Amino acid sequence: MANIVIDRIRKSFGAFQALKEVSLTINDGEFVSLLGPSGCGKTTLLRIIAGLETSTSGDVRIGDRSIIGLAPKDRGLAMVFQNYAVFPHMTVYENVAFGLRMQKADDARVKAQVEKAAGLLHIEPYLDRYPNKLSGGQRQRVAVARALAVEPKVLLMDEPLSNLDALLRLEMRTELKTVLQSAGTTTIYVTHDQTEAMGLSDRIAVMHNGVVEQVGHPVEIYNHPATRFVGGFIGNPPMNFIKVSVSNGHVAAGAEQLAVPEDVGNEIVLGLRGEAVELAPLPQGIEMKVRVAEPMGSHLLLTGSIHDQPVRVILPASETVRSGDTIGLKLDRKRIIWLSPESGKSLP
Ligand code: ATP
Repeated sequence: MANIVIDRIRKSFGAFQALKEVSLTINDGEFVSLLGPSGCGKTTLLRIIAGLETSTSGDVRIGDRSIIGLAPKDRGLAMVFQNYAVFPHMTVYENVAFGLRMQKADDARVKAQVEKAAGLLHIEPYLDRYPNKLSGGQRQRVAVARALAVEPKVLLMDEPLSNLDALLRLEMRTELKTVLQSAGTTTIYVTHDQTEAMGLSDRIAVMHNGVVEQVGHPVEIYNHPATRFVGGFIGNPPMNFIKVSVSNGHVAAGAEQLAVPEDVGNEIVLGLRGEAVELAPLPQGIEMKVRVAEPMGSHLLLTGSIHDQPVRVILPASETVRSGDTIGLKLDRKRIIWLSPESGKSLP
């Protein structure tokens, strides 16, 4: 079993707490992303798991065995980092073969595994070249192929696709998912790119200021963010947050009265995904002033305001709304979430 248990990990750099007590279990064969903005502690956590950084306290176990005291090479992990240096004095073939050679695999196995990994990453044409004759993206593929060639039980990746151009990135994302799914590799993947995390992950751990704010299936996190931070970080456009007045346990949205959770004060924050709306006539709908209308081909993106607060909504491409229009919107009640204006936490 290659499940990974991260147990109350703390890390301080001097007085600064980079990780504030992070606990997370990654199941055998699962793909979990650590997602968050720059500086939230995701790389530090990955480096602690890899053994490249020591934790201040806490434990990491793989298959019930504590690995916290082990050297990186004894942890049974493979790693791919953003700037993972491929060996410049070795051909691509020997780079990919490196881990297998360390394992003293025989030549036939080395050849089979290198060819398989090279095939998956589309680097067969370069196997005889040296890394300085490759583009950054090609070098990154070599690094991924080298990690996959040993068929690791646990794979740690830190922004492995960030050096690739947008198209290649998308292609590699799909490939990685296919490869890792079929290999059953338990993977922890660090990224600040929410689209990448959404597409790849079985579950996402959203990190912020050294804590995990929410762990869950991508769709669950998208639809039910636990905090304002999570809702704003996941999704493009980000979730809309509109502060509204509460009267008699209800909020007015155009002609509609929406019931809010009990025991809230005079104000509440309404969280709404941009696509959870449809056009409605005024005054039945809630009024939106459209500042900019952008026809995106697949949809129409509207930027403007509701109750003088900034919002972005998405309508079908067939709708004709123009910059400067005032429109009415009907909100999809089932998709509204309510948050505390003080804590930013979603209310049950
Ligand atoms: P990025 O996406 O920019 O890499 P991250 O979420 O991976 O961000 P970390 O690299 O884990 O963030 O850093 C978390 C915090 O710890 C940051 O504020 C960083 O400045 C700090 N930090 C990391 N390493 C050290 C170090 N060796 N000494 C002091 N502070 C550090």
